[in-house]
Parts: sequence; structure tokens; C-alpha cells
Amino acid sequence: MGTLHPYSGRWWEAADEGRIRCVLCPRECLLREGQAGFCYVRQNTGGVMRLLAYGRPSALQVDPIEKKPLNHFMPGTNILSIGTPGCNLGCRFCQNHDLSKARADERRSRELSPRQAVELALAEGCHSLAFTYNEPTIWAEYAIDIAQEAHREGLKTVAVTSGYIGDAAFDEFYAHMDAANVDIKAFTPEFYRKLTLSDLGPVKWTIQRLRKETKVWFELTNLIIPTKNDSEAETRELCKWITGELGPDVPLHFTAFHPAFKMMDLPRTPVKTLSHAREIALDEGLHYVYVGNVHDSDGQTTWCPNCGKAVIRRDWHALDAYALKGGCCQYCGQQIAGYFPDDIQRDSSGWVRPLPI
Ligand code: SF4
Repeated sequence: MGTLHPYSGRWWEAADEGRIRCVLCPRECLLREGQAGFCYVRQNTGGVMRLLAYGRPSALQVDPIEKKPLNHFMPGTNILSIGTPGCNLGCRFCQNHDLSKARADERRSRELSPRQAVELALAEGCHSLAFTYNEPTIWAEYAIDIAQEAHREGLKTVAVTSGYIGDAAFDEFYAHMDAANVDIKAFTPEFYRKLTLSDLGPVKWTIQRLRKETKVWFELTNLIIPTKNDSEAETRELCKWITGELGPDVPLHFTAFHPAFKMMDLPRTPVKTLSHAREIALDEGLHYVYVGNVHDSDGQTTWCPNCGKAVIRRDWHALDAYALKGGCCQYCGQQIAGYFPDDIQRDSSGWVRPLPI
């Protein structure tokens, strides 16, 4: 098969002295001839933008959709997860740094056209594809082309993202996504500036636009790091913002940090810290709050906000019981926010049969 790269990138404009400006994300890198952006995968080649990672994923895996994490979007189904090298953030605590901090030519990759990605997802019995592991915004052209192929086959698409995307690309990128998990890493500008080398403002803007301007189903993740973003005041402020700006039905996942990359000196997040954050979020009125990366079945179960019964019981990523019909609680009829198609064939525990090959 012929090589698929370098591939013409989009969302850039010509600048002076042969330089080009990328406007795909708020970083707006100004690139001279031969220079790659902060994300490593977009490069000025002969005065035009090239996407070095197009058609060349370095990570490819079948995951339960709960691992993204998404708890309210086709629960119990498998998803084909795809990632490339590179990232447009510089998180000191990155939990995937072997991928996000690699250049496109430093990681083993395989050639995979959008059509081949979708055929692989179908062959593996997946109901959807995820653009994940690293930041999919930086390889938006490839993700969009895969999404178009996926939709032709009736598969859904998911972006797992930091939300650090520019105005120029937002509409088109999310027009091709059915669901997203946005990682809101903290709720202070200082944390974003010092520990992610980015800004909180554009992330809040992305989340607000997802809620107000799109039909994309989305959930939020907050990785809690001991001493860095684990204060009760910060968690409460985040939850107040979610209920006020987005409403109580947006699921929120508090996940545990483990020492990684440039933050090897901090301990893992204690389970009790996550449980306390969950209590704060429930106290602030959020309906669906989860803990992740730890064993806590109650904290991973979906509880009906009306009658209080368990409608999807989970342990880690596994479903133990499923009590929804038409997206409603089987006990009281309350609509549960999310996407729960009844035509997915489930066994008694809630796991689904793979799609026919
Ligand atoms: S997508 Fe990459 S090249 Fe473009 S502005 Fe962001 S970091 Fe820079």
C-alpha cells in the first residue's frame, strides 16, 4: 500500500517570511520552513501545513466504552480506540506521555486509512470508534475522515479531548462527533498555566459551546492530583460552574492520578479523596457523578436521580446489571440523560453481543 503521508493539513494561514500560522488550537504556532508545532505532528513544509500523523496511528485497541470514560453513551459496548503521537498541551502529570510526548517518527506506527479503521472496528464487533490516547484535535483531519466512513456504516464516533481547540475548527470537528469526554484538568488558571502549559479559558469555552451549540453527548473528567487540585473549594467551584452553565445532567468523572512523567514525587490519589469529591458534586446538585481508576462499585454505578435505585451497576469498567428501557429507569420511569439505544442486544448483565462480522 502506498504511503499516506505527508498529508495536507488545514486550519492555517500564510504569515510573513515564508512562515505559516496554525489556527487549529489556541496555541496558534507560527512555523518557519521545516518547523513542527508544539504538538509535533503539524509541520511547515514548503510553505504549507502538513499533518505528519495522518493515517499513521501508534495506538490501536478495543476498549469497553466505559474506559474513555463514558457511562451514558451506549454502555456495555466495545469501542475501537485510535491514537497518534503528539499533544498540544504540556501536562507535567501526563498519564500517556510515552505517546503524547513522542514525535511522529519516534513511535512505531502502522498505516491505517480511514476505511481500514472502520473495517477493523466492524471486524472487532465495535459499535463506535474513539479518537483518544493523545489529543485528537491535532489530527482533526484524520479523525474527521474516519468519522465520515464510520457514519456510513452506522458506527458512532467519540472524541476524548482536553477541549483545547480553536474557533476555526470547532464547528467542523464536532459536526462529526457523536460523543465526547472533555478532560477539565483543574479549575484554576494557575494550574493550567503552570502544570499544563495552556489556559483554562478556551477549555471552558469549548465545554460551553458543546452544551449550547451542538448535539454532541459529552461527559467531563477531572483527574484529581494530591495537593495540586484536590481542595474542597476548587471542587465545589467546578461543580457550581457545571450546574450553572451546563445543568445537572452532565456526568462528571473524578479519576485517580498515579505518579507519571514529571510528577513522580506525588502519591496516588486516595480513594477517600475521590469519594469526598463525589459527595461535594452530589451536594451541589449534579445527578451523575462517578469515580474512576479505583475499585468503588457504588461510585461507578448510575443511580436514578428520581427513585434512587441502581439503573446501571458497574465495577471498574464491567457492567453487573442493567435496568433501563427506552433510556428510562425500569423502576420509576425517570428518563436518564444519555444515549441508550434499545436495539443493542444485551445479555442479562448488560453487556452487548458483538456486531456481526
Ligand atoms: S495544533 Fe499543533 S501546530 Fe497547531 S497551534 Fe496547536 S500545537 Fe501549534
